[in-house]
Amino acid sequence: MTLEHGRTLSDEDFEPWFAKAQELSEYFREIGMKYDAENTFAYPTIPLFKDSRLGSLIVPPAYGGPGGNILQLSKVITEMSRGDSAITLAYNMHFITLGIVMSNMGEVQMKKWLDKINEGSIIFGPWSEQRAGFSGLADTKAIPQPGGGWKIYGKKMWGTLGEAADIVVSSATITDADGNIPTDFEERVAAEMMYINDFEVDENGIGDGVRIEKTWNALGMHATGTHVIVFDGFYVPEENYVCENRTGLFSSLEWASLLFASIYYGMSLRILEETRATLAKKHLGAVFGAIAASDVKVGQVGHIIDGVGDMAVRVEQNRRILWQTCNDVIDGYDEEWPIELRVPYIGLAKTTIASNTTWMAQKAMSMVGGSAFRKGTIFERFYRDSCAALYQPLNADQTYSFIGEYMLQPDELND
Ligand SMILES: Cc1cc2nc3c(=O)[nH]c(=O)nc-3n(C[C@H](O)[C@H](O)[C@H](O)COP(=O)(O)OP(=O)(O)OC[C@H]3O[C@@H](n4cnc5c(N)ncnc54)[C@H](O)[C@@H]3O)c2cc1C
Repeated sequence: MTLEHGRTLSDEDFEPWFAKAQELSEYFREIGMKYDAENTFAYPTIPLFKDSRLGSLIVPPAYGGPGGNILQLSKVITEMSRGDSAITLAYNMHFITLGIVMSNMGEVQMKKWLDKINEGSIIFGPWSEQRAGFSGLADTKAIPQPGGGWKIYGKKMWGTLGEAADIVVSSATITDADGNIPTDFEERVAAEMMYINDFEVDENGIGDGVRIEKTWNALGMHATGTHVIVFDGFYVPEENYVCENRTGLFSSLEWASLLFASIYYGMSLRILEETRATLAKKHLGAVFGAIAASDVKVGQVGHIIDGVGDMAVRVEQNRRILWQTCNDVIDGYDEEWPIELRVPYIGLAKTTIASNTTWMAQKAMSMVGGSAFRKGTIFERFYRDSCAALYQPLNADQTYSFIGEYMLQPDELND
């Protein structure tokens, strides 16, 4: 099914959905600092997210959902991220994974799995492994079973949202009966499958043939609960095979890049909000430095005025590139681009916003001053959390490589 097929939610009917996102955002804002400090997933958000039914926003009406489009979803994610980006990044994996798998499932699978999503099930997508993240072909093995289906063995290093999830979508390479991965590269690519399966673990993270190893300990995005998922004989029946993983991912990667972009756009809005709130009120009193005076109001210092103006410009750039790219996808304008450039051109929204937002997080630290460096302030959190933007696909370096390689093909020079 094409990306925007059957997405018909009107702006008016979208309003109550956005209102639910605003409610969640308020709550995320209240509890965000606590879960950052405790370095755990924000468990009380699970029933609230499920009850909101926001998780089904993009399910088309033909499958019982409201049929929200990618721009409406982007607005929901941005709003929640404005409340707390780490908590929202966790739920973002639900939306990314759902968008990708919906673009690749057959009719029977759509009906079965989207019914569960409409009932409030949460889905997650641990694809990345240790050797090479998102672009690494799965070392995780799918060993064929005599009665049909596969048992999965391997480790996924980045399992965001696993603690809340009911359904997993992931990748594994189909082996021979003895567990050998194809040695020929093309065969290996073709043998890498995307599958969908129920995911059930107990309160200790242990399930049948699968467990969550609670190892998350990172610079930022603490409340994502991005743990290691260990598959050790996890059974996947044949009917849960979705598609060849690489074909599936690349044909629907907009769900990853535009939704990550929405997270960091939300973060940029919040950075601007907090920076203004701090700097508009701050007085230095009597100082002797670049300015020597009996009282200096920070909001009247030239470089602060310019800095905040620069931030506001970047926030507006973020909004424009994100909403326009969503609209390009909705309107089918992306079909105008050479096929090789579709993924990186859509990805420009994410790389531009990531770059603006990491810059803003750093700029806020310097403009607010030393107090921002102290643990537990919102500014040091922005600084830490924004760094995660460097890693999520597509990253800026690979975006340039995709585009540059295409531009330097001799045939393209004639165009
Ligand atoms: C907070 C957070 C949550 C995450 N949650 C999830 C999740 O839920 N599911 C999930 O699957 N992943 C998740 N990830 C993982 C993420 O998407 C990346 O896969 C991970 O960061 C490792 O990939 P990498 O490319 O950064 O590193 P590596 O793959 O180790 O790359 C190392 C270097 O090689 C370059 N490189 C890699 N591949 C290629 C290539 N093919 N061509 C050219 N250059 C290449 C990279 O650009 C980088 O510079 C999460 C990451 C973060 C930070």
